[in-house]
Formats: sequence, structure tokens, C-alpha cells
Amino acid sequence: EEPPAALAVPQAGQDGLTLLHRVGVVDPASLDDYRAHGGYTALRRAFELGPAGVIREVTDSGLAGRGGAAFPTGRKWQATASQPDRPHYLVCNADESEPGTFKDRVLMEGDPYALVEAMTIAGYATGAHQGYLYLRGEYPRALHRLEHAIAQARARGLLGDDVLGQGYAFDIEIRRGAGAYICGEETALFNSIEGYRGEPRSKPPFPVEKGLFGKPTVENNVETLVNVLPILTMGAPAYAAIGTERSTGPKLFCVSGTVERPGVYELPLGATLGDLLALAGVRDGLRAVLLGGAAGGFVRADELDIPLTFEGTREAGTTLGSGVVMAFDDSVPLPRLLLRIAEFFRDESCGQCVPCRVGTVRQEEALHRIAERTGAAAAGDIALLREVGRAMRDASICGLGQTAWNAVESAIDRLGAYE
Ligand code: NAD
Ligand code: SF4
Repeated sequence: EEPPAALAVPQAGQDGLTLLHRVGVVDPASLDDYRAHGGYTALRRAFELGPAGVIREVTDSGLAGRGGAAFPTGRKWQATASQPDRPHYLVCNADESEPGTFKDRVLMEGDPYALVEAMTIAGYATGAHQGYLYLRGEYPRALHRLEHAIAQARARGLLGDDVLGQGYAFDIEIRRGAGAYICGEETALFNSIEGYRGEPRSKPPFPVEKGLFGKPTVENNVETLVNVLPILTMGAPAYAAIGTERSTGPKLFCVSGTVERPGVYELPLGATLGDLLALAGVRDGLRAVLLGGAAGGFVRADELDIPLTFEGTREAGTTLGSGVVMAFDDSVPLPRLLLRIAEFFRDESCGQCVPCRVGTVRQEEALHRIAERTGAAAAGDIALLREVGRAMRDASICGLGQTAWNAVESAIDRLGAYE
């Protein structure tokens, strides 16, 4: 049985949408409707440009990964395309699991053909003939729509042995996650596809060199891939004119918590946190905003002028991450919230490395103790939290352990939690 549809996308006050313009407008089951709304013009343009030309456009656009880490997409594509080892693979990371992140779901449910087209372009540019779409298991509606879109594209010569009659072979296989957050980490995801335990591998080597089945692999997030369509249809210079000099393009933000209109919003990078919350209807009594997800950090209600750019959030001591913007007012008990975050990381740690396996447990225990006591009695536990947090950040194998202390640290330092 399917859960309710993804949160409605608020459109009011948002003209000129680039990524969401078909969501809620096209019939997600109809390839003809997708084409009538501009679908498959980007792939035609890709075949005109050739693989190197596509990579040049993506590089010149300044597109940086939208999964959370903001790695330059053109550099990733070029690094894979230039590997002599064959075959090359393309993997779309659709295991959207960061708490408070639901933007890829909206794209996949509302505009599934866009992802199929974008994956075909990415495969063509980087020399891959097989794409894997690793989809969060809890997204059955996206699964059905993507399965249908892939089958239709195959039946109409847009996937298969001879895509668009251009002599390029490409196909897509969907693999479903089974509920583990860690399988969204790119190398744990490879292990999961290969049939092993979903445990991250050490990097380097990076996937561009040794990825899925040990072969050169491009792995991109759903939103990253969908950005390639406007880059090719409008051209890199026009795309790069959206946003700021160092953070180009549009970005999807997932707004939740104590706001009037939660949902997915598209804004050009460079808008401020305050601009976004004004669209979502910020409520009186706002205390804090969790930016970038559980791996990100809290900012105070008087810091809403932070620019939503990669560099702006970094300078403000936080991150844009996957676009999570979770608002909290005074009614939300902070200690309970921090405990919930710590519990999440303890639960989702794969247990492979000691700093994270033990550190996430110690962090949760200390937060429990602090929640029960206050003031001076908590000082020792806060010192312990800092030490454990540093060890997790410095010595964990993957991003989960490296960031498991971020939100708690920012709550202590920025919000004065437990004072
Ligand atoms: P990372 O910085 O290790 O890597 C980012 C990407 O760049 C990877 O694909 C990596 O292979 C590539 N890369 C990095 N250096 C490279 C190099 N020298 N050569 C070639 N490729 C290189 O980050 P990560 O661990 O992949 O991702 C962490 C982020 O994931 C966090 O910021 C978090 O916000 C985000 N995240 C998102 C979700 C979600 O649901 N969207 C869930 C969990 C975490
Ligand atoms: Fe597993 Fe945590 Fe180590 Fe990552 S940091 S490999 S999740 S134990």
C-alpha cells in the first residue's frame, strides 16, 4: 500500500522555476506529456555536443553536487570519462535518507522521465552503458513511476541498444534499499548493489577510479542529475548566471518543522535563510533552525541573514548539506531533540569502525545523563562529549561518524543548550 503523496510543492511567489517546473504540471505517467513540456530536448542537445562537449558544459555551469557534499560535477564526470579501465558505470543515488530531506522524492514522483533523461545524458558523457538507480526502499510511489518511465523509454527507443538512433547503448536498472541510512553513503551503496553488507569502503581510491564492481563509476544525487537538463537546454553561461559566482544554479530546499507551509522550495542559490523562511511562513517564537540536516548544524533565529550558498553556510560555520531547513520554536524541548538525533546516529552506525560504533553510543549516554541533570553536574559530560565528538570527526571512516557530533556541538555552542 502506498503512503500519501509527497508534500505539496508550494508554488506561490515562485516564478521561473527551473527544476520543479514540470512537477504538478505534467502527467508523470505520460512520456508524450513529458515531451510536450520540453522533455528529451536536452538529450538531443547532448548528442549534438558529443561526450566531451557535454562535460565542458557541465563544468562551465559550475554545477556542484546536490546530495550534500557539493563536489564539482564536471570534475567528477571528467575524471571518470578519462579512465582507460572498462566498463564505466553510472549510479544515481536516490537513497534519500537524511532526516528532513524529501526533495528527490518530489522530483522522482512528479517528473520521473526527467531523471531517466538526465541519467542517459550522464551515461553518454562518461562512457557508461549501464546505469543503476539505487532507490530508497520507503519510496514505493517513486518506484512505480520510475519503473513505468524506464519501461516506456525502452519501448520508445530512448533507452536500449540504440538510444534515439544515435548508436549509443544505455539502460537503467533499479535497485531498492532496505532501510539502512548508511547505504546512501556512496561506497556502502556499491557494496549493497554487489550483494555485500552495506559498509562504506575507505577512500581513496575514489569511485571515479574504482567504484561499482571495482570499475570507474560516476555517482550522482537525483537533484544533481536533474540540473543537467537546464544546463544543456539553456547553455552553461545562462545557467551559471543563476545563483552567485561560487554557488551557481537553483537549489531545492526541504522546509519542515514549525513553519506555516512546509514543503520543497526552489530558490536560486544566494537567497538568504530569511527569504526562504518568509516563503514558508515562519511562525512567532522561532528559536533555531537546523541547516543541512542532522549532519549539519543549528543556527539561531537572529542569524537568518545567512546566505544559502555553499561558501556562505561554510563561513557561518554550518553547511547547506542536502538542503534541510528544519525550524524549531520554543515549544520544542532541545534536550529531547538532541537525544533523538544522537539515537538516530547510534542506530544507523554500521559498526565497522570503533570511533563511530563506540562514539555514537557514548554520545547518546552522555546526553541522557545531561538531560536528567543540569548546570555544573553536566560540565563533565559536556567535556566528554567534546572529546568523543573530536575522535569521531577525526578518526571515523565515513561521513556518518565524522558528522555525528555536528548538530549536538552547534546546539551547545550556538544555542547554549543545557545552560
Ligand atoms: P565526500 O566529500 O567524501 O565526497 C563527495 C563526492 O565527491 C563523492 O562522490 C566523492 O567520491 C567525490 N570526491 C571527493 N573527493 C574526490 C576526489 N579527489 N576525486 C574524485 N572524486 C572525489 O562526501 P560524502 O561522504 O560522499 O557525502 C557527505 C554528504 O552527504 C554530507 O554533506 C551530507 O549532507 C550528505 N548526506 C546526504 C544524504 C541525503 O539523503 N541526501 C544522506 C546522508 C548524507
Ligand atoms: Fe560505519 Fe560509522 Fe565507521 Fe561510517 S563511520 S564506516 S557508519 S562505523
